[in-house]
Amino acid sequence: MTRICVRDLHKTYHRGSTAVDVLRGIDCEFDSGQFHFIVGPSGSGKSSLLYLLGSLDEPTSGEIEIDGRSLSSWKEAERNAFRRNDVGFIFQNFNLMSNLTALDNVLVPYMPAGLTTDLRQQAADLLKRVGLGDRLDHRPSHLSGGEQQRVAIARALLKKPKLVLADEPTGELDSQTGRDVMRYLRELCEEQNATVIIVTHDESHMTERDFVHRIHDGLIVDSRSALETAQVAATPGGSNSAVSSTP
Ligand code: ADP
Ligand code: MG
Repeated sequence: MTRICVRDLHKTYHRGSTAVDVLRGIDCEFDSGQFHFIVGPSGSGKSSLLYLLGSLDEPTSGEIEIDGRSLSSWKEAERNAFRRNDVGFIFQNFNLMSNLTALDNVLVPYMPAGLTTDLRQQAADLLKRVGLGDRLDHRPSHLSGGEQQRVAIARALLKKPKLVLADEPTGELDSQTGRDVMRYLRELCEEQNATVIIVTHDESHMTERDFVHRIHDGLIVDSRSALETAQVAATPGGSNSAVSSTP
């Protein structure tokens, strides 16, 4: 369970002599134990923000507070431990290793610390939970896109991270497969009581209990519950929205 507060966050990339201000003062809060969606056009800074939240990159300025403590004040070792133990990251293109089985792909981040029989069993159990009990020994090339993303979900959730970050996890999947993947992700994250932040284009994945943060040109322009978003959309002149009322 983790609460995140983002204050005046800036990220500037340098391309040759050109500076590109990708995040231009993000202010946002992500309450614990909840599903948050970050929605915005391509190039608006969604992935950049997600990397900063997972401490995979450093902001140019501004603060990210994790449970009231500024990330920038943490020692390097503490930040490494946070990345390793507390954050589960899921990518759009699965990022699986082609030469490893599904089971080993789930275990690979944990190999440097040494694998226990217990952890191998937990990984197998988790793969069973996402419907891949008969695919433990399959390599990614023998798995469908939806199956590969379920392996990536198991990999991200094995250590029961407090924070789950997903960058367009259904972006490569057809809509039915995307819904299945989201159902597994939601079930496991709710069970583990994780704070979940998902970048998506597909608003049909949201339920009324979720939060929506809209990003545009490196700024959060709107943060509200999906229920409120749906109510606004339902009023005359409100924008279209496809928030479902059931999980
Ligand atoms: P989104 O995920 O919303 O599509 P990104 O955060 O990936 O947006 O990128 C926002 C902008 O920042 C894009 O214009 C992209 O080209 C640029 N950008 C992202 N990463 C880098 C980088 N490492 N170096 C230079 N520019 C980058
Ligand atoms: Mg992106």
